[in-house]
Amino acid sequence: MSEYYNVAEIFGENVFNDAVMQERLPKKVYKRLKDVISEGRELDLETADVVAHEMKEWAIEKGATHYTHWFQPLTGVTAEKHDSFITAPMPNGKVLMSFSGKELIKGEPDASSFPSGGLRATFEARGYTAWDCTSPAFVRQDAAGATLCIPTAFCSYTGEALDQKTPLLRSMEAINTQSIRLLRLFGNTTSKKVTPSVGPEQEYFLVDRQKYLKRKDLIFTGRTLFGAMPPKGQEMDDHYFGAIRERIAAYMKDVNKELWKLGVSAKTQHNEVAPAQHELAPIYAEANIAVDHNQLVMETLKKVAGRHGMTCLLHEKPFAGVNGSGKHNNWSITTDDGINLLDPGKTPHDNIQFLLVLTCILKAVHKHADLLRESAADAGNDHRLGANEAPPAIISIFLGEQLQDVLTQLISTGEATRSLKGEVLQTGVKTLPDFMKDATDRNRTSPFAFTGNKFEFRMVGSNDSIAAPNVVLNTIVAEAFSDACDVLEKSNDFEMAVHNLIKEQATEHQDIVFNGNGYSPEWVEEAERRGLPNITNMVDAVPALTTEKAIALFERFNVFTKAELESRSEIHYENYAKAINIEARAMIDMAGKQIIPAVIKYTTALANSINSVKAACDADLSVQTGLLTEVSALLAETKAALIRLTEAAEKAYAVPEGREQAVCYRDDVKTAMDALRAPVDKLEMIVDKEMWPMPSYGDLIFEV
Ligand code: ADP
Ligand code: MG
Repeated sequence: MSEYYNVAEIFGENVFNDAVMQERLPKKVYKRLKDVISEGRELDLETADVVAHEMKEWAIEKGATHYTHWFQPLTGVTAEKHDSFITAPMPNGKVLMSFSGKELIKGEPDASSFPSGGLRATFEARGYTAWDCTSPAFVRQDAAGATLCIPTAFCSYTGEALDQKTPLLRSMEAINTQSIRLLRLFGNTTSKKVTPSVGPEQEYFLVDRQKYLKRKDLIFTGRTLFGAMPPKGQEMDDHYFGAIRERIAAYMKDVNKELWKLGVSAKTQHNEVAPAQHELAPIYAEANIAVDHNQLVMETLKKVAGRHGMTCLLHEKPFAGVNGSGKHNNWSITTDDGINLLDPGKTPHDNIQFLLVLTCILKAVHKHADLLRESAADAGNDHRLGANEAPPAIISIFLGEQLQDVLTQLISTGEATRSLKGEVLQTGVKTLPDFMKDATDRNRTSPFAFTGNKFEFRMVGSNDSIAAPNVVLNTIVAEAFSDACDVLEKSNDFEMAVHNLIKEQATEHQDIVFNGNGYSPEWVEEAERRGLPNITNMVDAVPALTTEKAIALFERFNVFTKAELESRSEIHYENYAKAINIEARAMIDMAGKQIIPAVIKYTTALANSINSVKAACDADLSVQTGLLTEVSALLAETKAALIRLTEAAEKAYAVPEGREQAVCYRDDVKTAMDALRAPVDKLEMIVDKEMWPMPSYGDLIFEV
């Protein structure tokens, strides 16, 4: 049965947003809170008490019994510890519902088991959570009840960041400060705040829940560790943007409704390239809100799937040989009065500012390509980056024909005097043609593409938080802006100085620009000649975090201390080792307990059939015996590979945590996993389907 509702009415109904605050808070308190939010200060306890009280009353009306500080530790998922609002019973046996300002702004989860990369051992055992009042609280309603969720940052007692949120907020501060400096140089005296805007496009797979439950690999690791390609793959491209089937449409409808209630502006939905793959994109928001909302999107996609008898797979590569899933992180920088610094603009004045911003971004990405690559690294994404689908593992920038032409002119003459679209440019770099979105957004192979008025970073994994890539983008661009301001603020002739700086940056950093086919082998060679890093896996990406260059960058803008960076790299190695360890164990389990026994059953059936036929008549048994020989050989190969994988996994597990262990998992364990998968996938193709112990790729992705 279809249920109809008014989107405008339900949108944000579970969010303690500006409208609710304005309605519920005393004028003075509302104003104080708004000031704190816009100026990024700390909330005083007195105000917090009033806000907390109203928030609680509002939440209780929505059915909330508990509240939680909702935070994003470095495990990749959100964490929460629920407390109910009740006070100790009074003498009359009744309880009150209470929520204080202190409880709102600061929490102390017993979070000692979250990864800290040694930070908490070095500093202080406990961590605490603090309200990020720039991201509104919300009530989450589901089968488990209703809970008031307060978006928070998670730090150690000495202030070290233990989460994704803290560095993100710090990086937003950095880009705000440096962008304002830059805008002032161009005579802008009105903009007060600059915020990065982020719109992440989220890809995901849906599979039938009953089939999912028959695959231990999907249950434990989120991806298939075995599985032969179905007769029909994605080569027909008939799924992409195809009509959305009813079961999926009903699911998407539900997802949208849930998200709208939470104030997430889910906007676009369509099928993706691979069968059973889909995408959801919200309307862009301020970076920290976009990060929170993306977590809610992932949570909701999974939760609602269950209600529809499906499971949502967010893994970067659930099926070998089928396109994986990523996230396109659309990023721009916007002022509080609506100016997008990445908009080329129409007037000469805007154009110069745009060209300076653009060449600063070229510089930033060229200088810190390794950091940007690292920010998208996770074990799952290793299957995707550099394979023939998602962007290559090499970071480069796509500008498009038109902008490239302007850049080329700038580099050769210091001036751009004509436009590819045939319009005459006035003087110098002063007027640029309008950059049509369509004219720029043609290259899907680029990891970092200019798309009209934003950059689209396409490397991020589907399962990963988008916090890290935005921390890097904000900080590296803040650095380039800061360097530019240092030069320009000292100059006597601003026009001349800007002109020279644009030319200098365009020339010096043109090597990061690549408009060709990022999948081609020639690009790999060309990139090497240009000295661009080609980091093919997560383990090799991690060292970028702790280079002198990275430490200097992050410390300069107070985004990370050296200790925080070191702790993060430890956590990355640990996370990688854990992910591969779980995969190896799941494979060992499946091969030993399900696949080998099934194949033995099949060989027994074959042998019995051979004997029966032989006893019955003098028929030609070459097919049966041939099959039996082939299957037995593959079975032996499987068993040998299983033994080798078990040994490799045990050896890796015994290596002390850290880089050395991660390398061991990557080089020894993963190789042994591939060696086990090969004969099993061959077996799947020849063993009787009735006897194969789990649903095939065909069952999983063509029959949702
Ligand atoms: P596509 O990339 O599929 O062509 P769009 O470019 O329209 O789709 O939008 C993709 C995502 O980019 C959406 O989440 C959208 O809100 C976001 N987006 C659009 N403009 C901006 C911007 N100026 N800054 C950041 N994100 C943006
Ligand atoms: Mg896009």
